Amino acid sequence: MPLSPARVNDRVGWSAPARHASLGRPARTMTDTRHSALALLAWYIESGVDEAIATEPRNFYQPAPTPPAPAPKTTPASERRAPRPGASVPLDLESPAAAQDSAQALAAAAGSLSDLAEAMQRFEGCALKHTASNLVFGDGNPEAQVMFVGEAPGADEDRQGKPFVGVSGQLLDRMIACIGLDRGSAYITNIISWRPPGNRKPTTAEVTTCLPFIQRHIELVAPRLLVLVGGTAVSALTGRSQGITRLRGRWFDYQPAGVEGKGGDIVPALPIFHPAYLLRQPALKREAWRDLLAIRERLSG
Ligand code: URA
Repeated sequence: MPLSPARVNDRVGWSAPARHASLGRPARTMTDTRHSALALLAWYIESGVDEAIATEPRNFYQPAPTPPAPAPKTTPASERRAPRPGASVPLDLESPAAAQDSAQALAAAAGSLSDLAEAMQRFEGCALKHTASNLVFGDGNPEAQVMFVGEAPGADEDRQGKPFVGVSGQLLDRMIACIGLDRGSAYITNIISWRPPGNRKPTTAEVTTCLPFIQRHIELVAPRLLVLVGGTAVSALTGRSQGITRLRGRWFDYQPAGVEGKGGDIVPALPIFHPAYLLRQPALKREAWRDLLAIRERLSG
């Protein structure tokens, strides 16, 4: 809840400000300045501002700086080549198609998970990278039979550089523990590897741009089963637009895209409710439990 000016004053002892005896005006002292700064900070915290996303302050009431001139026309896709390993990829946020082509080329050139992580560190086509603190690549056992794919990192994940370590991650850990899994026997990642500011849902453009990375990630882990955690993972990887309530608990065939269009073996994929959703709707845990049992049964088959 935002802190009202009256409550700010109570907190910092401003209810009866000192007045300059001769001028009848409040006298500003170093202590006042310090109190103002502390009150502003308290107000930010209570308003939910918990992250500084830039080192320089910016006045958001002023018009945004003039955007840079449009990038020169990009090379047609057919003439574009994969970037040399180690080369940095130029920022081209003006052209989503170029960003996606670049992601595709980098992903296809990655022969291992560490190559892929390194390629993503060099990728400049997703603006989320510039507000995130860390790339959140994956966690758990890449040799596992089951791979969980969520939406995008939140604040805790961004800070630690690991997926599902915040409150919803703790619930996911407890859910998978019920069917005998943990991060030693499962692998966990997200559709998007950089935190969207304020934990907003990633946009369709962000998902489309980053899709080649998660597709390659799945190919490199090559799990026996995929678990799609929440609606964003389901729509990104199955192309279905129905809500998670309709799709959870139904097995889909996930067809790996394959390097240069050569698809790999089909992977059975099960949509489940996102733990953040279950925290808000605990009555749905019954359905989530059924889905977990279905995963256990497939794994034991
Ligand atoms: N929610 C997600 O979808 N992924 C995370 O890593 C954390 C929260």
